Amino acid sequence: MIARDGGNVFGTVAARARADANAIGHWMLRHALAWSLVLLPTVGFAHVDPAGAGDGGFVSGLWHPVTGLDHVAAMVAVGLWGAQLGTPAMWLLPVVFPLMMAIGGVLGVIGTAVPGVGVGVAASAILLGSVVAAEARPPLAVAMLMVGSFAIFHGHVHGTALPTFGVPVLFASGFVLATGVLHLCGIVIGLLRRWPAGRLMIRGAGVVVALVGAYSLAIPSWWR
Ligand SMILES: [Zn+2]
Repeated sequence: MIARDGGNVFGTVAARARADANAIGHWMLRHALAWSLVLLPTVGFAHVDPAGAGDGGFVSGLWHPVTGLDHVAAMVAVGLWGAQLGTPAMWLLPVVFPLMMAIGGVLGVIGTAVPGVGVGVAASAILLGSVVAAEARPPLAVAMLMVGSFAIFHGHVHGTALPTFGVPVLFASGFVLATGVLHLCGIVIGLLRRWPAGRLMIRGAGVVVALVGAYSLAIPSWWR
């Protein structure tokens, strides 16, 4: 009897905690949306800065990805989506991306034209953000294909912007490594999905990523 009463009390507390967590999650989702609309126009850069290659070495390459908000957003989204999809996607997507990005990078370096690169990069953030926001669960092959094709666009942009000074191979290695770290950040944030509020937060992050993409599509600075 006592045990049963105790169980009820704990049951009520747990239900209450769940309801609170849900309310917090919804609140954060709403605010993420509102604040991103306010903050986005204040960010002065869209894709990684082609002129900001530093000394063209490994450390400069390592830092380079974080100079582009849409790159950061899209990379984190790959990790978030992987976490939502669970294993094996969680580990496959963050491997597919840097691999395909390297291939796109080579195409960029040797000067092979890839049509619609600028739009492709912005679209990657919009679509990756949207699938995270919607918690979309396509078959693994479709997810890999989607992430892989976006990676070619990113790689091409970054390959074209690769410095001709310094040690380009080291710079590129740093860049790819930092991209992997951004994926990992997404996966770690994605672990929050164990909790209902965390799940909503991740979906809110997807909304922010999509808005970053829409923003970089709207401004013409990368359109060169
Ligand atoms: Zn990129």
